Amino acid sequence: MLHQSDTFSILYYMLLIPIQWKSAANQFLYPPEYQSHFSGLVLSHEKIRARIRELAALLHQHCQVHARARPLLVCTLKGACTFFVHLTEELQLLRQGFDVEFVRAKSYVGTESSGAVRLLLGQEDADGLEVLEHFKGRHVVLVEDILDTGTTLEKLVPVLHEKGQPASIQVVTLLDKRLKDGTEKKFKADFIGFSIPDVFIIGYGLDYNELYRDLRDIFVISQAGIEFDAKKLHDG
Ligand code: 5GP
Ligand code: MG
Repeated sequence: MLHQSDTFSILYYMLLIPIQWKSAANQFLYPPEYQSHFSGLVLSHEKIRARIRELAALLHQHCQVHARARPLLVCTLKGACTFFVHLTEELQLLRQGFDVEFVRAKSYVGTESSGAVRLLLGQEDADGLEVLEHFKGRHVVLVEDILDTGTTLEKLVPVLHEKGQPASIQVVTLLDKRLKDGTEKKFKADFIGFSIPDVFIIGYGLDYNELYRDLRDIFVISQAGIEFDAKKLHDG
């Protein structure tokens, strides 16, 4: 038989636990040095992971129906690194085989696309020319963090075709930025995780001058975040 005090404690915990759980779920985990560096949440880690599971299922289906061959997943460093890790994990759970490669593209200076894209692709041959020997005849899936104006992919994809001679290139991007009315994207992705507003975001691999890649969630950067001097974190 329950005592009145037991009934009270059961009621107390029934009420308290969901409240505590809810407040924990609303907390975002980030390094304390980033306090006040965000002005708003764009995507929580959980939401990102759920969508990546769906993207992996779409890719798996695509590989089975169209290519029928083992894809070569190409990660565009550094921003897409976190997305790449979680995407490949979901593909493993679907028993989808793949090979991996990495390329590096850099176009942003501060919060603005510089318009000029620097590419670092593969190895160099004896004549100093870049070679992409692993791409030949392969069905490539290029994994991007964010598609903004499309400048980077407009430059990168034809270079990969020309130097790598793959059978096909499909592009999967976690984020696709909505541009101002009437602005045409220079490149369109085949698979898109989320369409997001035209704001500068950080986290989940995406940086601002090399900071904030270590965030689990995706935020809008605040003025304090833009003005923060990253060197403060390096000098012990
Ligand atoms: P695009 O060449 O399409 O204009 O820009 C694509 C590249 O710019 C992305 O791969 C990413 O490196 C960078 N970028 C574009 N928008 C953002 C943003 O809001 N935040 C961050 N951190 N990088 C961005
Ligand atoms: Mg990128």
